[in-house]
Amino acid sequence: LSLPIHDAVLGDAAAYGDAPALVDGAGELTLTYRQVDAFHRRVAAGLAEAGVRKGDVLALHSPNTVLFPVAFYAATRAGASVTTVHPLATPEEFAKQLRDSSARWIVTVSPLLASARAAAELAGGIEEILVCDRAPEGEGVRSLQDFLASTAPVPEIAVDPDEDVAVLPYSSGTTGVPKGVMLTHTSIATNLAQLEPLIPMGPGDRILAVLPFFHIYGLTALMNAPLRRGATVVVLPRFELDGFLGAIQKHRINGLYVAPPIVLALAKHPAVADHDLSSLEYIVSAAAPLDAALAEACSTRLGLPPVRQAYGMTELSPGTHVTPLDAAAPPPGTVGRLLPSTEMRILSLDDPAKDAAPGEEGEIAIRGPQVMKGYLGRPDATAAMIDADGWVHTGDIGRVDADGWLFVVDRVKELIKYKGFQVAPAELEALLLTHEGVADAAVIGVTDPDGTEIPKAFVVRQSTAPGLTADEVVAYVAARVSPYKKVRAVEFVDTVPRAASGKILRRQLRERA
Ligand code: ATP
Ligand code: MG
Repeated sequence: LSLPIHDAVLGDAAAYGDAPALVDGAGELTLTYRQVDAFHRRVAAGLAEAGVRKGDVLALHSPNTVLFPVAFYAATRAGASVTTVHPLATPEEFAKQLRDSSARWIVTVSPLLASARAAAELAGGIEEILVCDRAPEGEGVRSLQDFLASTAPVPEIAVDPDEDVAVLPYSSGTTGVPKGVMLTHTSIATNLAQLEPLIPMGPGDRILAVLPFFHIYGLTALMNAPLRRGATVVVLPRFELDGFLGAIQKHRINGLYVAPPIVLALAKHPAVADHDLSSLEYIVSAAAPLDAALAEACSTRLGLPPVRQAYGMTELSPGTHVTPLDAAAPPPGTVGRLLPSTEMRILSLDDPAKDAAPGEEGEIAIRGPQVMKGYLGRPDATAAMIDADGWVHTGDIGRVDADGWLFVVDRVKELIKYKGFQVAPAELEALLLTHEGVADAAVIGVTDPDGTEIPKAFVVRQSTAPGLTADEVVAYVAARVSPYKKVRAVEFVDTVPRAASGKILRRQLRERA
């Protein structure tokens, strides 16, 4: 689908007219499709008048709000590439991204203005900082809302969808430094078109935007996909269990797109029983490994069809596999089937030049129209990721069953090497979560005093099990896995550190250990 992203998403917006496009989940504000369409054009005109030019990088630094999409599509219509910034980034982290991306503009929200100013000061090269919401008095800052009254002409920028970068998200930095991922208009729009037949959305669907728009999963599943199809997006600025459950009930949400920690909460948390979640029709989980037993506990508790998994990565715009909503009985634990016009190989772990035997585990490699243009300013990292034949080496281990369903085991880099055996932390984490007294868990490899790498578990006790001991945890796992996979050290913690996308931050645990 070779189209500018704002046209790919808002092309039919006028036709959806007065249907609600975006609803503020906590407040009263609703934007209709007609408003989103008109507002983003007015704001694009204002940005152009302010000096935004084709090819400029604009940093969008905001939690989820109903104005986030307006700012986003206005920026791309004005010819900018949008680099999305974690709203809780420190000024130093934010400045790094500004410098790395050569950003010239910042769009933020009033509560984050001080942090954005500090980052701009550190990075240099910023033309102007604007806010999406109403500008605070006396701060001398303009709001995008000021542009709604502007009479400047809407810019007619000739976007080359196949070449121009629409979004420059930074990879999560789970395994290294975050890198700017260049995604063209075409790669993003094409991925939307690939996903659509398998996870259809339309007018009347009510989607809850609880994962952040700044991450490619939220940007795709909670913003671009529903707005392209006339669905209603109810926007929450952050995940907090009661607000989340209350929003499902109040707004009669029917489709949930979440990450595994939310599936965990839905499966285990007592507060779930206090809410009417009967409007829910399906749940999709992606971004990190989700265990089959946990997924089943969640769907059984809520009386829903099995939780559907999807798989992807920032570098792949992001989707490559989904479990179709209408698949009658997907095998438990699968992340789904390969999207149309996408190719996959499973490379042998012993010899990456060869394919693994059918059904065997290996590294997942992907080729297709959704592959990124490259990492910004990092030709070496790009060449390490995309080989000469265009295959992306994902760094994830998977296997495919005879019917084409993919199962993701874990990341190659996360495997713990215990005396020559490979242990996948995801498998142990899933097992730990089946223990009644365990509220949350993470596993990493640590080096014991004789230099052997061993699996260590960080465990959050369930409030009902304050007396749970390390020996009990070790014994629970030992009774259920081959001896080489045993957890050999346990530490109790208050929380498991996670990224906004739901991924366990193992680096933080490693530093701690
Ligand atoms: P970085 O590349 O900077 O280290 P990251 O890989 O965590 O960060 P993302 O692009 O957000 O950044 O995440 C993609 C990764 O998420 C995949 O490579 C895979 O490891 C994991 N992932 C995504 N979906 C699933 C899934 N359904 N099951 C298991 N893992 C998944
Ligand atoms: Mg990655």
